[in-house]
Parts: sequence; structure tokens; C-alpha cells
Amino acid sequence: MSSNLKFGAGIWHFATYVDRYATDGYGPPRSLIEMIDLAGQVEDLSVVDINYPFVDPDLSLGAVEAALTRNKLSVIGITPEIYTRRFAKGAFTNPDPGIRRLANEMVNDAADVVRRFGADYVKLWPGQDGWDYPFQVDHRKLWQLSIDGIGELASQNPDLKFVIEYKPREPRVHMSYDSVARTLLGIEKMGLPNVGILLDFGHSLYGGESPADAAQLAIDHGRLFGMDVNDNFRSWDDDLIAGSVHPIELFEFFYTLRKNKWEGVWQLDQFPFREDSVAAANSAIGFLKAVDRALDKLDFEAMQAAQDRHDAVAALDLARRALFTSY
Ligand code: FE
Ligand code: FE
Repeated sequence: MSSNLKFGAGIWHFATYVDRYATDGYGPPRSLIEMIDLAGQVEDLSVVDINYPFVDPDLSLGAVEAALTRNKLSVIGITPEIYTRRFAKGAFTNPDPGIRRLANEMVNDAADVVRRFGADYVKLWPGQDGWDYPFQVDHRKLWQLSIDGIGELASQNPDLKFVIEYKPREPRVHMSYDSVARTLLGIEKMGLPNVGILLDFGHSLYGGESPADAAQLAIDHGRLFGMDVNDNFRSWDDDLIAGSVHPIELFEFFYTLRKNKWEGVWQLDQFPFREDSVAAANSAIGFLKAVDRALDKLDFEAMQAAQDRHDAVAALDLARRALFTSY
């Protein structure tokens, strides 16, 4: 294992879930402390991303800190919940300026929690910022508000990093920050050094991108601040166990990161609806370690030479031999 390889997970990996059908949930609700204790049972997990406000609103920061400490976990990011019911028509792009203000305040509160926990970033997932129907919005206004809302936050907190996690759709039928290219365009327009991308492998896949290509583009613009891995069947954000459906594309994604000497936490964003959450995390991390071993084994020079010839067969043979003999 590379000496500084670190694994993380969104704390929601250890929650129980509700969907449109099992409206009573796939398990009894869990408190944040219970989720942290489950995360602590995963082998080799060292950081978590926590939603804010906490699921149990009365929980003190001290109690969360104590639970993290006893589980030897630290916080990589805080995800303000700018996508719940009151933000049904958007957080940064809500037609009501009062709600936009509320979103700004919530993210500023989350920024204080990032400072308190010594975390790396505030994670913005503007899931409700977008539209559902043709003619529903004025596209220029919507995009401008998307840029202004995040730009304002980044200017208010120049000491912190903000990461935007783009996603094509869900819950909105079309999200404003839907792709790597559009998110980079928005960030360039903001022109601030402390805004970057958190690239979710699954969002990139189901958005029709090549996650390796998306990562390279974000790196070339100096904006790849974080990443999440999981898997899906490319038509929806299934959030399955990393490596379960697209192992070779996952390998190409990590190959791209290694080639660029990108360093950061390998984070899980999985939703084990019907699986044991600790087992699902261990399974993913077990596979990610194999990916890391495969990268150690891969002949990077031969790969570069094959790519310089656009030699698909040679490149794939190198990749598959390294990956499938490492697990
Ligand atoms: Fe994610
Ligand atoms: Fe997702």
C-alpha cells in the first residue's frame, strides 16, 4: 500500500435509507453517534465527511468530537444540507432571496464546523439547484445565481476550501452543476483560488463522462480538490460498492491520479440499502487496495508508449494484467 494512502467515507454510508417505496425505511433510523461507531468498525477508514446540521440537531460538537476520537476518525469535510425540503426550489438559485440567504447562512455555519474540526473543506452538493421542466427557468439567471452563491461563500471564507460535487440529475431532473466542464466554467468565472471540484466517480460515469478524462481536465485546471468512488450501471446514481461494475474504468481513474501525482483521500460514497454497511465499506476498501497494488505493478512507461500509439490492445493488456492479478 502506498505509504500515504488514506481511506474515507461519507458518514451517510452508515445511515439507513428511505426511498419512494420503502417509505418506512430499510432499517430503523440511526443517530450520528451510531453511524460514527459503525464507521469506526471499518478497517483502514481514517476520515469521514459529515452532514450539517447533524441528524440529531441537539447533538453537541463536543459529543461528535468524542465519538470521532474514540473511533480514531477525523473529519475531511462538512456537507451542509442545502438540499432538504425548504430548498426544494434550490439553495443558491432559489427564486426567494430569503431562502438564498438561508443557504448562505447554513453554509457559513458549516464553515465554522470545518474550522472547529480542522477539516479540509466545505462540500457543496447543490442537488436542488436546477430545473425539472422546459421553460421552467431563465437559464442565464439560474446559472448566474449558481456562480454568485458559491463565489460569495468562497469570498466570505478565504481561509477555507469549497468543493463542488457535480451530478447530472436527482433530485432535480437537471442539476445546474451537471458535469466537469460546466463546473469548471463556473469556477473559472468565480476566479477564486479556494473553489474546486469534488469528483464523484459515479456521477461522472452516469453523466456519460469518462471519469479518467474528467479527472485529467480538473487536474489540468488545478481544481481537483477531492474525490468519491462508488459504482453504478450508468443510468442512475446507484452508489454501489466501488469496483463492482466498472473495475477497469475505476482503474483508469486511479491511474490518472497516480500519473499526475495527485494526492488525497480515497473516499467512499456508497449507499448500501440492503447490505451490511461495514461489510460494504470493507469490501470496497479491499478492492481499492488491489487497485493501489496494481498501480505499483503497472508499467507506466509501457502504458505511456502504448497510449502514444493509441494502441488499445496493448494498453488494455497492460491494465488488465496488472489489475486482475492484484485482487
Ligand atoms: Fe458523492
Ligand atoms: Fe451521488
